Amino acid sequence: MGKPGQVTLADVEKALRDLGGEATRAEILDQLTRNRNGDISYYRDEHNYQTTAFQVIQQHCRPYKKQEVYKGAIRFERVGDRFRLAYPLGDEADEDESPGQRQPNKRLLETMKTEVLEGFTFSNPRRNALKLDEHDAALVASVKAALDAAILSAHMPSAVAKRIHSLAARHRMKGRAAAIKRHPFAGVCEASGQPLEKKFAQLDELDPELGYAGRVQWVCPQANKNGSHSCGVCK
Ligand SMILES: [Zn+2]
Repeated sequence: MGKPGQVTLADVEKALRDLGGEATRAEILDQLTRNRNGDISYYRDEHNYQTTAFQVIQQHCRPYKKQEVYKGAIRFERVGDRFRLAYPLGDEADEDESPGQRQPNKRLLETMKTEVLEGFTFSNPRRNALKLDEHDAALVASVKAALDAAILSAHMPSAVAKRIHSLAARHRMKGRAAAIKRHPFAGVCEASGQPLEKKFAQLDELDPELGYAGRVQWVCPQANKNGSHSCGVCK
């Protein structure tokens, strides 16, 4: 492994995922630094490193005014003094800056099918457990058909997929804030009962069909199968 180079969008997304999908600027920068083992020698100095890294966030974050200029894909949202992923944690980062170069492909269609239509989860070990009734299954089937056709005929399939993805994600996100209010983090990993630092806590949905309207619990990334940090007990 060579020395870590310039901070990329993928680096920032990874740092934010490591932090559970939402964090302050300082927390993100700390995590970025940890992820490169503290090596910022690529940069002139600490200030240059932090400024440059933060620019990567701004370039892909709403609601910064500069957005129109940057043309980068929206990957983050600013909420007060915090930043969060503008898509579900279970989603893989597509780092293409020029979606037009991508052709529709099987993987994309599969991603759309599982993540857009069958429901997002922030981490989705239970993705396949969703049970839809006949009415809802028919809705999904008809939207899926329209979606497949749209992606295949799109001029910029990846861009279209992303837009639809984020529209669907917004529906999923609606209940999240309410769920957190209803069930605030209590300082422990609820899978084990062990103390857990807030920055590692991840909100886990227990009722896949209900999403955030259902029961939720705060757990360590290890319990959530979404990261390596453990409360010490979860494996
Ligand atoms: Zn745990």
